[in-house]
Amino acid sequence: MRTSYFAGGCFWCICGAIDGTPGVISVVSGYSGGDEADPVYEDVKAQKTGHRESIKVVYDESVISYGQLLDVFFDNIDPFDAEGQFIDRGRSYTTAVFFANEEEREAAERKIAGIEAETGKKVRVAVEPFKSFYEAEERHIDFHKKNPELYERELEESGRKKNSGGLRGGTETPEIVKFTEKKGKTMDAVKRFLEYVKIATQSDGSNDRTPSSEIQRDLGTKLADELIRIGAENVVCDEFCYVYGFFPATPGFENAPALGFISHMDTAPDFNGFNVNPRIVENYDGGDIKLGDSGRVLSPKNFPHLESKKGKTLIVTDGTSLLGGDDKAGAAEILTAVDELIKSGSPHGKICVAFTPDEEIGRGADKFDVERFGAKYAYTVDGGDVTEMEYETFNAAAAVFEVHGFNVHPGAAKDTMINASLVAMEIDSMLPPKETPRDTTGYEGFFHLCSMEGNVEKARLEYIVRDHSDEKFELRKALLKVIEAKINQKYGEGTAVLTVRDQYRNMEQVIRGEFHLVENALAAMRETGLEAKTQPVRGGTDGSRLSFMGLPCPNLGTGVYAMHGPYEHAVVEEMLASVEVIKKLIGKYSVFGK
Ligand SMILES: [Zn+2]
Repeated sequence: MRTSYFAGGCFWCICGAIDGTPGVISVVSGYSGGDEADPVYEDVKAQKTGHRESIKVVYDESVISYGQLLDVFFDNIDPFDAEGQFIDRGRSYTTAVFFANEEEREAAERKIAGIEAETGKKVRVAVEPFKSFYEAEERHIDFHKKNPELYERELEESGRKKNSGGLRGGTETPEIVKFTEKKGKTMDAVKRFLEYVKIATQSDGSNDRTPSSEIQRDLGTKLADELIRIGAENVVCDEFCYVYGFFPATPGFENAPALGFISHMDTAPDFNGFNVNPRIVENYDGGDIKLGDSGRVLSPKNFPHLESKKGKTLIVTDGTSLLGGDDKAGAAEILTAVDELIKSGSPHGKICVAFTPDEEIGRGADKFDVERFGAKYAYTVDGGDVTEMEYETFNAAAAVFEVHGFNVHPGAAKDTMINASLVAMEIDSMLPPKETPRDTTGYEGFFHLCSMEGNVEKARLEYIVRDHSDEKFELRKALLKVIEAKINQKYGEGTAVLTVRDQYRNMEQVIRGEFHLVENALAAMRETGLEAKTQPVRGGTDGSRLSFMGLPCPNLGTGVYAMHGPYEHAVVEEMLASVEVIKKLIGKYSVFGK
């Protein structure tokens, strides 16, 4: 059990709003933030004490985290008002988060930074160290329960009711509203997408928590809500911020294999992901697109694929952030496809949907619960070009050479000194020089020197090793061992110490046995009017990990390009095509094996 303190304006109202939240055990009205001992209601209300009307929340941390409680709190206040809340004016009605420790302070500041980035407006909620809390007079405690009618009226009149929950929707520029309204229902995937990209969800590889950043929950909760609204069952955004839900098979289709679709919620930490301002470029003329006032230009000179997008509708950034199409486009496409399919009344087998955190920092599959997900086969919807599907990834390992030298005075070093840095260079020179990322493409593998450091005493080389072919991958690792042995033969045992750690394997080994996943995807793409092809991934996907966890899982395209940076853009026509591909795949698997 944990206790936290907030000021959210009139304590009758905020008490009522937070009471009843799952995990919240009790909410008590009181006074906090001032120095005067034992304040009374009349003095606080008259601004005589320096206190704010406040609440003390006792909650079960195994059900609701401090971060989630902050979300509920902020959803029920107007965070931009510096002079009170709704009709209640004056300092005693201003808002505050009273933190008990650094962790709470940081969480509150992060939340505020997120809202400011999302809305472009200054948040006026004070973040102050907790000093003391004085319980309010008996008549104020549980006001909302004792006086339900008065409480309802207070809520209504104060304006709080209208406001609460309205924060997360973000603001949309009129241009975008016009675009999505003009096109009507067929633009649902785009509407969803534009909503999701407003919610910052960068993952953070600098810690080993899951989720690596609490802000991912903002989108997790929203996607879970949406699944419930569409009619999914057993929907949950779990402790690790993995969202699961499923749609039961329509009668008569219970024997069809359960088919899953997965996208990730986080965006890459490589570039700013806050305050995303998408812009729609209709009927793209094939030329340069200025990205806001950033000085950046999206040009076919740097992105030759743009030439083939002439006449299409693009969604671009203002050049100051990434777009977040990777992979919020996938989430928008999956939810829209399932929504439309359910509404159309088409029969289907069991459909499972999941959204995962932390894919961009390589941990998206770490806490994935394959059993809870419940699908027999699945697709990640996380690729680029919508005409390409992917089922071959690299086999991947990380290799480190530690080199131990022998240091003596250079003037008297003949035949004794072992310069670790020179030995490290010798090691690298024993690798095939033309097998680097720069020199390879398609199915060709490589050794990639990611980092080197050293002095005479010791040196360290870090590599990643990649190859599609299982056999060549093993040969690459064997070559590293040979080099280690040769160096030790020459300079003495223990000079070079090699450690090799496998990272992921080529999912083709699994998909080979379930090749219908490739054939059906290609067929669904062709039926949508796309020139379908497969493309080897020069990397890994969450699907490669999941495939070896028992869930065969190739990857579909989303229509998003130039991911992870300010040039990221989505092609609307391809997003809509992706929705069709997903619907057609569900159709195919509903009669699979019949
Ligand atoms: Zn992605």
